[in-house]
Amino acid sequence: MTSNNITTNIIGSGLGGLASAIRLAKQGYRVRVFEKNGGPGGKVNSISEGPYRFDTGPSLLTLPEMVKDLLAEAPGDIRRLFNPLRLDSICKYYFADGKIFNAPSDPDDFIESFSKLTGEDSGRIKKYLDRVHELYELTAPVFIFGNFHRRQELFQPGNLKVLFNLYKLNPFSSMHAYNRRSFSKKNIVQLFDRYATYNGSSPYKAPATLNVIAHLEHNMGAWFPENGMFSITDALYRYARHLGVEFIFDTYVSRIMTEGREVKGIIAGGKEYNSDIVVSDSDVFHVYGKLLPCIKAPAGSRKQNLSSSAIIYYWGMNSDASDLELHNIFFASDYKKEFNCIFKEKDMHDDPTVYVFISSKIVKQDAPEGKSNWFVMVNAPHDSGQDWNELVMRTKKNILLKLGKRLGYEVNDMIEQEFIIAPPELEKNTLSTGGALYGNSSNSPTAAFNRHANFSRKLKGLYFTGGSVHPGGGIPLCLASAKIVESEILREYGKDEH
Ligand SMILES: Cc1cc2nc3c(=O)[nH]c(=O)nc-3n(C[C@H](O)[C@H](O)[C@H](O)COP(=O)(O)OP(=O)(O)OC[C@H]3O[C@@H](n4cnc5c(N)ncnc54)[C@H](O)[C@@H]3O)c2cc1C
Repeated sequence: MTSNNITTNIIGSGLGGLASAIRLAKQGYRVRVFEKNGGPGGKVNSISEGPYRFDTGPSLLTLPEMVKDLLAEAPGDIRRLFNPLRLDSICKYYFADGKIFNAPSDPDDFIESFSKLTGEDSGRIKKYLDRVHELYELTAPVFIFGNFHRRQELFQPGNLKVLFNLYKLNPFSSMHAYNRRSFSKKNIVQLFDRYATYNGSSPYKAPATLNVIAHLEHNMGAWFPENGMFSITDALYRYARHLGVEFIFDTYVSRIMTEGREVKGIIAGGKEYNSDIVVSDSDVFHVYGKLLPCIKAPAGSRKQNLSSSAIIYYWGMNSDASDLELHNIFFASDYKKEFNCIFKEKDMHDDPTVYVFISSKIVKQDAPEGKSNWFVMVNAPHDSGQDWNELVMRTKKNILLKLGKRLGYEVNDMIEQEFIIAPPELEKNTLSTGGALYGNSSNSPTAAFNRHANFSRKLKGLYFTGGSVHPGGGIPLCLASAKIVESEILREYGKDEH
């Protein structure tokens, strides 16, 4: 499959890097991936602690067909590594008023049971789900799958419908304002507001257009891979290797080499590696700050604010947690205060929303029999020099108090193994500035437009994939960015027929 003509050096083996490697190798390019860590995956990684295994980063999977598409021509043994299962329950919600709601994945069941629990009119919920569906159909071709940084693509006939219907996107209303207008009950507003956190933003700031995220889970389905989230990395990595992609691990890329207005390759581990094309899956701030110090980032991307980060407690528990589901949320009583704390005060809220993800509910070998592996995450500000030791300890106390009250038992007594990741470790592990989970936040109506393009306007041969560039963070969007990179490279260099 490999050619020996056009060489591409890829910086980073996160999902954007792996997907770009697969796509370019399939087009006949010679591809090398440089990764500072000892293995692939970036944020989509796996850690074992004693008898427990944990997915370290993402836990919620939507649009699994995007991974399947990439693997469509892979050998059967590689394709079978990734087997997404459609969940019956999206998430078990614990609201601050004491109500508990195990949200069914089937939209009609969801509408009926949530209406029963909250007293919200079922017609309103149905109308909302239809509306976010319509919003997705309208926006996805441009804002997720489209390359709107190229004017000729933005103004192609298929997109005119979106441009004429821009008013329907409600870009100047916040997600929360729109949700509050849509519903009369606080709990349902909070449930839909939560989707702002799927790209590290605040529902009080992010434009109502982003309510489209709810469509993915509620109309298209929530999924989980049979072998855990890391099976996505595993399958893509093995397929890339099968296609002849070369991986160079434990090797930091310190420079992108340029000559005039073209890239010439990279310097990695002190050695020069020439190439016509460089694809960066590295955080875009890191690229301009460290790898390309003589070139200024575009003004729009310089103005962007970072997304939220997280503190994650990985707990091996001596109980099977039969009262909990795969995904569980314990909501803050004052959601607005929590987001204010994260984005304005850059502090941890004392009554945080707590997310508990237990992969051993599906992947039985992730914990010994009768036990379970808890990934307990709270949203946090990105690192800007806070005292993380103090914040981690204070937050743990608050989490234990909250879980103890809601679950009715002493959670602390169940912890057998523990390790913790806070924003500085997230940055150290993946070089994401400030430990931001999703690159930039979407806390303004112009955020989507200011996100860095998938190509460089200043340097021929330089392309960008991954969560810090268009269309944004999260697994489906990173994979979409790799597809745009492929089409940009093919436009410029064509298929390599060697
Ligand atoms: C805790 C957490 C929870 C999340 N939850 C979800 C979720 O539920 N659902 C979802 O869809 N998304 C979620 N996300 C977001 C999702 O994980 C990311 O958007 C996505 O994985 C980012 O992929 P990427 O291609 O940007 O690469 P990254 O994962 O950021 O990896 C980049 C890689 O490049 C390497 N690298 C960077 N610079 C260099 C260099 N100079 N030299 C060598 N190597 C370099 C890094 O070491 C790293 O391995 C979550 C993220 C985190 C951290």
